Amino acid sequence: MSSAPSDRVAQSVALLRQAEARFAPRVCFACSFGAEDIVLLDLISKHADKISVFTLDTGRLFPETYALIDRCRDHFKLPIRVMFPDASEVETMVAEGGVNLFYHSLAARKRCCAVRKLGPLRRALADADAWVTGVRRQQAESRAEMEAEEEDTTFGLRKFNPLIEWAEEEVWDYIRAHDLPYNPLHDKFFPSIGCAPCTRAVTVGEDPRSGRWWWEQEGAVAECGLHLSE
Ligand code: SF4
Repeated sequence: MSSAPSDRVAQSVALLRQAEARFAPRVCFACSFGAEDIVLLDLISKHADKISVFTLDTGRLFPETYALIDRCRDHFKLPIRVMFPDASEVETMVAEGGVNLFYHSLAARKRCCAVRKLGPLRRALADADAWVTGVRRQQAESRAEMEAEEEDTTFGLRKFNPLIEWAEEEVWDYIRAHDLPYNPLHDKFFPSIGCAPCTRAVTVGEDPRSGRWWWEQEGAVAECGLHLSE
């Protein structure tokens, strides 16, 4: 079975080791359990396990994603810190906008992402000097300028993107070659998986990110703010 080119893997491992050597224990991996993040869990568990792992439980994830979190905990033998939104912020937001407020306006959707994702992310990163993400340049236009290592001006941290050069096929070749667990929704045409109410399947030829917040006007950036520099 083929795998991602070995020099591609070696470059990613080298970057993870650098991040670990320079910043551990104040370096963490933000894992959302997408296909790229599964590759990174494998590389971190084998080569750089002083990088801590956390995930954001927005409270609105797919059942398949929750099942995968526990499968990964068993498979990779890594502690995974699960961050939750502030309960009173969620209660206030839902009281004012309803449980599905994100369908009403772009501002409401951004508010929900801020409460359910950005708040917990800021808390997870509060003790960190650097973080690791699974973003790839090919995933979206908004990610085209990203580098393997860069300054994250939003959070004031060094940011490492070890898979930035990887193609989608290389990610899947790696997962299959190493028989890694992954989200079964990927087999149902969900290339990018976020919260259940805000993610849908795409059809052949569609932009992989077009399944996220699909109801929003053309021109709105299909990002939740986690990987946008201010
Ligand atoms: S993706 Fe949707 S449900 Fe999840 S935090 Fe953002 S708006 Fe809320």
